[in-house]
Amino acid sequence: MSSEVENVIIIGTGCAGLTSAIYTSRANLNPLVLEGNLPGGQLTQTSEVENFPGFPEGVDGFMLMDSLRKQATKFGTRFGQAIIDSVDFSASPYTLKAGDKEYKAKSVIISTGAAPRMLGVPGEKEMFGGKGVTTCATCDGAFYRDMDVVVVGGGDTACEEALFLTRFASKVYLIHRRDELRASKVMADRTIAHEKIEMVWDTVLDEVVADDQGFATAVKVTNKKTGEASTIDAKGIFIAIGHIPNTGPFAEALETDEEGYFKPTLGSQVQTNIPGVYVAGDCADHVYRQAITAAGMGCQAAIEAERWLAEQ
Ligand code: NAP
Repeated sequence: MSSEVENVIIIGTGCAGLTSAIYTSRANLNPLVLEGNLPGGQLTQTSEVENFPGFPEGVDGFMLMDSLRKQATKFGTRFGQAIIDSVDFSASPYTLKAGDKEYKAKSVIISTGAAPRMLGVPGEKEMFGGKGVTTCATCDGAFYRDMDVVVVGGGDTACEEALFLTRFASKVYLIHRRDELRASKVMADRTIAHEKIEMVWDTVLDEVVADDQGFATAVKVTNKKTGEASTIDAKGIFIAIGHIPNTGPFAEALETDEEGYFKPTLGSQVQTNIPGVYVAGDCADHVYRQAITAAGMGCQAAIEAERWLAEQ
């Protein structure tokens, strides 16, 4: 058990958390960053990042996160390993618990991210992150210029991804397990009407097939109504079946929306219902979900924490 009261504890080491760390350490707040199961966050699972400003040639996701970490360390950020399982925000200093370890802090920035929901089919995990399976068209769409791709899902994200991919891909198959899209009508209509998109209704993806180099070449699918199995050739497999925000341990203490995302107070992207407790990145954002927007929220949270601590 640690009895020391930290100025600020940052939970999570994705773009949001590490940006908060850079700002709070440069502000001499001596932050402690607690790192969970996926050091560096979702970007470490992708290969090339081409849309993070400042890298005209693109940057490897792992390298980018390593650079952010080095930058935070340079200004004095301390790192620890802990999976927070419960919190007590009823009185300051706030308490964070990880098993039998306890942390106390005057302010807390939660940047625990979100995990893309996955199908759990053979080949998906093996080809995820650079070998054909991805969860982000904005990040990876441009790699599939003039190739056939598939998108799986029937919500707004799947439609948005499919429409975005029509800019690059020669053909987009949208595979949905039912015969009706869940997406908003305008998105659904636009998607179904698009000449480059072929709807594959009532169909589940059973397996991602690899070539002998381990890159995706096709998906095996089954029509649920007819039972007919078939194969669709595609080099890019975009899984868009929703995200799961990593907000569980905090959900009783902080406001969340119906999908479990943190719900910042009105007029702010990062302030919560508890003074001195902030949220940043994908755990509080199901709209943009980009590295740069997460970093932006991390910056906002750090500046808010700094101001709040100065007022105390
Ligand atoms: P979502 O609305 O929850 O849709 C998930 C889709 O994936 C559903 O069609 C679902 O099928 C399918 N699915 C779930 N698990 C599956 C599985 N194991 N196998 C196959 N299919 C599966 O998620 P989302 O599209 O990411 O959207 C999340 C929220 O963000 C929504 O409120 C959405 O409106 C919003 N959003 C808005 C915009 C926009 O306004 N521009 C853009 C993106 C997202 P079923 O339909 O059969 O359940």
